[in-house]
Amino acid sequence: MANKETTSTQNFIRNIITEDIKNNKNEGRVITRFPPEPNGYLHIGHAKSICLNFGLAEEFGGRCHLRFDDTNPVKEEEEYVKSIKEDVRWLGYDWGEHLYFASDYFEKLYEFAVKLVKDGKAYVDSLTADEIREYRGTLTEPGKESPYRNRSIEENLDLLQRMRAGEFPDGTHVLRAKIDMKSGNLNMRDPVMYRIKHASHHRTGDKWCIYPTYDFAHGQSDSIEGITHSICTLEFEDHRPLYDWFLEQLKIHHPQQIEFARLNLSYTVMSKRKLLELVQQGYVAGWDDPRMPTISGLRRRGFTPESIRDFCERIGVAKKDSTVDMALLEHCLREDLNKRAQRVMAVLRWLRVVIVNYPEGEVEEMEAVNNPEDPGMGKRKVPFSRVLYIEQDDFREDPPKKFFRLAPGREVRLRYAYYITCVDVKKNEQGDVVELHCTYDPKTKGGWSPDGRKVKGTLHWVSASHALEAEVRLYDRLFAKPDPGEDRDADFKTFLNPNSLEILTNCMLEPGLAKAEVGNRYQFERQGYFCVDPDSSDKKLIFSRTVPLRDTWAKIEKAQKG
Ligand code: ATP
Ligand code: MG
Repeated sequence: MANKETTSTQNFIRNIITEDIKNNKNEGRVITRFPPEPNGYLHIGHAKSICLNFGLAEEFGGRCHLRFDDTNPVKEEEEYVKSIKEDVRWLGYDWGEHLYFASDYFEKLYEFAVKLVKDGKAYVDSLTADEIREYRGTLTEPGKESPYRNRSIEENLDLLQRMRAGEFPDGTHVLRAKIDMKSGNLNMRDPVMYRIKHASHHRTGDKWCIYPTYDFAHGQSDSIEGITHSICTLEFEDHRPLYDWFLEQLKIHHPQQIEFARLNLSYTVMSKRKLLELVQQGYVAGWDDPRMPTISGLRRRGFTPESIRDFCERIGVAKKDSTVDMALLEHCLREDLNKRAQRVMAVLRWLRVVIVNYPEGEVEEMEAVNNPEDPGMGKRKVPFSRVLYIEQDDFREDPPKKFFRLAPGREVRLRYAYYITCVDVKKNEQGDVVELHCTYDPKTKGGWSPDGRKVKGTLHWVSASHALEAEVRLYDRLFAKPDPGEDRDADFKTFLNPNSLEILTNCMLEPGLAKAEVGNRYQFERQGYFCVDPDSSDKKLIFSRTVPLRDTWAKIEKAQKG
């Protein structure tokens, strides 16, 4: 464990739980839950909540439930339920037998509603949605009571039963809590508890035509499950008095709600509505497009679960909203991949090099180190021959100062192979460089010179006759602006980065990669981390760039420490 002190940021929720255990609150039990609404794929913001809820439960010997908050039949789908389970598991968490659905509590929630009606704490309102909004008032003006507010308990019970029985069309009645239309907190102004919606639900089918609102379902679901610490994002702080009110009126188990700041990440959007728009309108290839901030997108991009968990631990948990730099997420990934990714040589934009004094037809197997960070990963053989590919960028006919790579008359090292010197430059009719002629020094095998001669540049290379051809997809940030959601009047899609995907075909890879499988991650020496994309087939190998090697975050950290 490398310096835990500097990597683990403070987490005030951990302190609250520690204190609760000390005081034997809930007999020392810790039961948390992650409550997604199955109306889209999970994103990195959800990962923060998952790591927090499952992580704390694990840490304190408790458990964490996975509960689908599926109270809105219109936007929810089985596909999302499946993907959410997959993503939570992939992140490394296990809910065991504690998989729940708010829809399993529909009957119980209805009983709670009936109890509130019987106690005179809820009533059926027949104003239209617009009228309800109007009567609600504003932050500066108190609300007005509905003319239906004082219906008798008998009438309310009758109407509620008939709402449930399907006698009324959508929008004709709602069930509301009877609290206080003059409350300074708008959530307390007789919030809606049930709506009529003649819609099929992905789990309960047509059994129900009234559905509880999130505000009525959420706290009661937590209570039914015996949740001790109900951790949620800051926007629910103002709802807490309402949740407390319901629990007190119903006299049922009262979980403790604790709010924390949601994660915002630069150069991307995190709202499911916006992500859905990108998917549906074809701006990306799907929910798992490697440019998406979704967990499935990050997975396809080559992120490891370890790096995401590390990121979530490092950003910590706070009470104040802030935006985290995407560079930190990438930094966590590089740190992890640096330890575990095998190094290979791959030439993305090639230039042919003929070693004129190397025997025609000869092949040597050069020994290459798989990971200098981990000798246990061993070595491999890479074929070397007379015709090679190097990167176009690694040659300049007219090199500027500080360009230490190949140029006419200059000697460089080919990694794990030989020193070579450029002796001739071949061009086509347009004057473009198409081939280099070089000589090699046979005494420099392995890439070092017995006479102590130094060279400044080391290039990666691939033997032309052995090279494996592949497509390589270079991904960049999805948005060109650090905060694409900032300007509420502008369409966030206008800030999409037009160069977020560049496809290179005909890249040349060392032949050992023929056995690479979908999801395998590598470091292409000097270029970055890449992984095999699921679009690959037996006929065509496709790699996605996970991240380039350049680490801006490491520099920031270093500057801060120095
Ligand atoms: P979105 O606003 O992206 O649609 P949501 O909050 O509606 O997200 P839910 O499915 O309700 O999505 O979220 C499940 C859990 O994840 C909630 O407890 C919520 O607080 C948490 N969560 C959602 N977004 C973030 C975020 N950006 N950072 C931290 N936690 C989040
Ligand atoms: Mg939500």
